[in-house]
Amino acid sequence: MGLAGKTIASHVSGDRLWDRLMALARFGATDAGGVCRLALSSEEIEARAELVKWARDIGLEPSVDAAANLFLTLPGTEPELPPILTGSHIDTQPTGGKFDGAYGVIAALESLDAIVRSGRRPRRSIEAVAWMNEEGSRFAPGMMGSAVFAGVRPMAEIEAVTDASGCSVGEALGQVLAAEEALPRRPLGFPVAGYLEAHIEQGVVLEREATTIGVVIGIQGKRTFRVEIDGEESHAGTTPRGARRDALVSAVHVVQALQDAIWDEADEVRFTIGRFTVTPNAPSVVPGKVVFSIDLRHGDAETVEALGDMIPGICEAAAGKCTAAVQKLLHDEPLVFPESMRGRIGKAADRLGLSHMELPSPAGHDARYLHKVCPSGMIFIPCKEGISHNEAESVTIADATAGTQALAEVVFELAEQG
Ligand SMILES: [Zn+2]
Repeated sequence: MGLAGKTIASHVSGDRLWDRLMALARFGATDAGGVCRLALSSEEIEARAELVKWARDIGLEPSVDAAANLFLTLPGTEPELPPILTGSHIDTQPTGGKFDGAYGVIAALESLDAIVRSGRRPRRSIEAVAWMNEEGSRFAPGMMGSAVFAGVRPMAEIEAVTDASGCSVGEALGQVLAAEEALPRRPLGFPVAGYLEAHIEQGVVLEREATTIGVVIGIQGKRTFRVEIDGEESHAGTTPRGARRDALVSAVHVVQALQDAIWDEADEVRFTIGRFTVTPNAPSVVPGKVVFSIDLRHGDAETVEALGDMIPGICEAAAGKCTAAVQKLLHDEPLVFPESMRGRIGKAADRLGLSHMELPSPAGHDARYLHKVCPSGMIFIPCKEGISHNEAESVTIADATAGTQALAEVVFELAEQG
């Protein structure tokens, strides 16, 4: 790097970044200070128009693909080379905050603004991207735009997904693309040389460690299950103990057996039974059926696989006089971002005098799917008390600016690579 004043990072403006974050948060703003901007909604269409306007002001070229992934491109001196992508999503949960997703998109835009202002031109084009429907709140599951872009899910499959009102992704995409008819249309899934996503941590590690930059090691693996314990409903006053097949008593034994089997000294396994339904759920009826959910996560592929494979046997063995049926639902492999990408982020933070540490991402992000098609990485910044998917979501201007400085440095560096 050259002299301190000559860095790309020195052209990053915290005020500009913050003004755009606050301006974007007005699209779908809630009374409690949060944001409700569901994927492909009219609020999102308006927010996208604002992004396009800002991009044009900077001198970027907006474009869109068939999945309504929005690209804002700074052409490189060798635009025929595959570009570097950086971004996140601007859709939110119904009671979401101002920063989840939006931060990564606005930080990407500010990075490009800083590069333009530096007067330097990268070899490769750099594109800020807003992926379609990351949250999966209106249309489930999420990470749709990045999944289709990476070829993980076919377009026809996502187009058929409907929201609670019966509107399909296909119809909603039609509305967004009609509003953006004037934008050049990109192919779905073009070659990409690298992807870097900035995001709020949504956890407490960086805040607790008083560290500004989180270099994300990878995204942990996740398996989910549905467990059904079947017994027999009977009269609470007349059925003696020996004649009962109490599904709740069995379920309690099963839950305890699972907790014991999955317990780990290092406290790295994340094991959650978050939903538990008793039938008929009446005070004077011996429960006949219990259904509960399992959410199992770990950073290591073999561990998440082996622990998940143990679950059916444990449930059957502990169910006693009842029967246990385990249905496997989702299985997302853990992933580790390339060492080269993580190293670049750490070095950029060092140059900028920013504290940094490596940490895993317990939550999923669009980078999960980009990782399948190009070297990918993520930068986390602290968020207040780890609060996210909540209207109270909060970050400091200083952290948001620092994360953007690191992002701008790394994306420019990546775009200079041959
Ligand atoms: Zn997000």
